[in-house]
Amino acid sequence: MLPDWAKLMRMNTLHQPASIKVHKTNGSTMDVVWEDGHAATYTFAYLRDACPCALCNEEREKQHRAVDQPVKPSEDGPFAMYKPLLRPTEVAMVGNYAIRFTWNDGHQHGIYSWDYLRAWCPCDECHAARHAKDGLEYDIDHHPPKVQ
Ligand SMILES: [Zn+2]
Ligand SMILES: [Zn+2]
Repeated sequence: MLPDWAKLMRMNTLHQPASIKVHKTNGSTMDVVWEDGHAATYTFAYLRDACPCALCNEEREKQHRAVDQPVKPSEDGPFAMYKPLLRPTEVAMVGNYAIRFTWNDGHQHGIYSWDYLRAWCPCDECHAARHAKDGLEYDIDHHPPKVQ
């Protein structure tokens, strides 16, 4: 029997993962299999660019960038061409509804709820479905950005 708060959380959560594998040390992805059988691989770069925190939301708005679009390299700034290999230094579950990453660039405020992750599933099928409506087109081959 679940406590009341857990039932509440569960009611508010449309999607639950059946399994999550974060390849924290020797990989560059998080693999999720959802309870309904849908499976997806999120690269760390994709997750970082899709960070749901207020700060990153604001940045995306400024850049007119959708959550599932990679960050445009800035033209000014000495580090424009330099992208360190991004990986989480810490991964933690938040209750039973979300996952939180602490990144090696120091960023750590994003809490990725299951619903959020599912809504921004990077697989071709979901990607196409999201962008079928708005007619937004960009190169699927370069998305999510490749991790070297
Ligand atoms: Zn953020
Ligand atoms: Zn998908």
